[in-house]
This record gives sequence, C-alpha cells and structure tokens, in this order.
Amino acid sequence: YRVKQSAFVQASTRVSDCPKDGLPEFAFVGRSNVGKSSLINALVQKKEFAETSKKPGKTQVINHYLINKSWYLVDLPGYGFANVPTDIRSTWNTFTKGYFLRSDSLVCVLLLVDASIPPQAIDLDCADWLGRNRVPLTVVFTKCDKTRKKVDGGKLEDNVRGFLRLLKKSYDQMPPWIMTSAVTNNGRDELLQHLYTLRTY
Ligand code: GDP
Repeated sequence: YRVKQSAFVQASTRVSDCPKDGLPEFAFVGRSNVGKSSLINALVQKKEFAETSKKPGKTQVINHYLINKSWYLVDLPGYGFANVPTDIRSTWNTFTKGYFLRSDSLVCVLLLVDASIPPQAIDLDCADWLGRNRVPLTVVFTKCDKTRKKVDGGKLEDNVRGFLRLLKKSYDQMPPWIMTSAVTNNGRDELLQHLYTLRTY
C-alpha cells in the first residue's frame, strides 16, 4: 500500500465541524513531542506536511488530511504538555474525547507512544479510556531507532515490553502494536498496510 496523494482538507475547532462525507478516519494521538508530526510526514513522504511541535495555544484543532482520495488521516491535538494550565487540559479532554465518541467514521485510534522513555501514566490512561469506551486502538511506538541507547534509565526494548505489560491490565485482548521510526522509516509500510487491512473490514 502506497500513499500516492495527500492533501490538507481542514482544521476543525469543533467536532461538529469535521467532514461528514463518511470516508474512513484514522486518528493519530499522543503526548506532545511523541513524534506525531514526524511520523505523519514519513507516512505521506512530505517534509513539512504536518506541523511540528507547536506550543499549545488557546485553540486546539483537529486536522483532517485526505489520503489517496479515500481516507482521512486525522491529526488530533497532543496531550501532556508540561505546565499547561488546567483549562487547556480540560479543553483537550472535552474536545478530543468528544471526537472519539462522536465520530461515526472513526475506524481506529493510533495511539503514539515514545519507545525511548519508560511507560508514562498519561499514555496508559489514554489507552485505558479508549478501551473502556470501546474505541478501537492500535499502539504505535515511535522513535524506535533509539536502540541500545540508555535513555532516561530505560532501554528501548524494556520500555516497549513494560508498556505492553501494563496495557494488559486494561485489555483482555491485546490491541495490535507496531514499532516505527521516522528517522529510518522502519515500520512505515507495516503501519500503512495495517491501516489498509482495517479499512477492508
Ligand atoms: P510531535 O510534537 O508529536 O509532533 O513531535 P515531533 O514530530 O515534532 O518530534 C518531536 C521531537 O522528536 C523532534 O525533535 C524530532 O526530531 C524527534 N523525533 C521524532 N520522531 C523521531 C524518530 O523516529 N526518531 C528519533 N530519534 N527522533 C524523533
């Protein structure tokens, strides 16, 4: 499966403003700095397609990108900024969780998890919430090129294994998971193939 065509469609500030043409949607979400923009750029093979690491403003937006004229890649606001006022945090919750619950076309949430740091409670909480609300989830580990380097006291393999072990507490049946790197493009084709397979169900 190849991305032959990709185009920005719109930025929505309300869930009710999102496109309603019924095309399947795959939503990318994760902590800020997880590598979401880099991964999206790698998937569509464009350099500055998704904007990188923006400071959280007052307005949070849901960006819809149309891929191969047949499905939406949905870029959701990042969560977990340090020192973010509670009102922005609660906006994230209402806005993004509202999208998860109200989007009829949402096929699957791609939860991005930084493999170069130990499991974070905020990511596990997000996965747990999705599970409880029966929103289909695939875990996408990012920055998997950082192998064998000790980062924050944890090795990449230990971080991944640790996260999956903790995830098991929330899920009877483990969600699919994929390891990726926007630097080496590892896992990119696997992820695209995975999305393609989900669409055909
Ligand atoms: P976002 O805030 O989730 O959109 O994250 P960005 O895509 O802006 O990436 C945050 C930081 O992580 C940047 O400094 C990137 O260069 C770095 N980064 C992103 N993806 C990777 C990756 O796959 N490998 C490595 N080593 N660094 C990455």
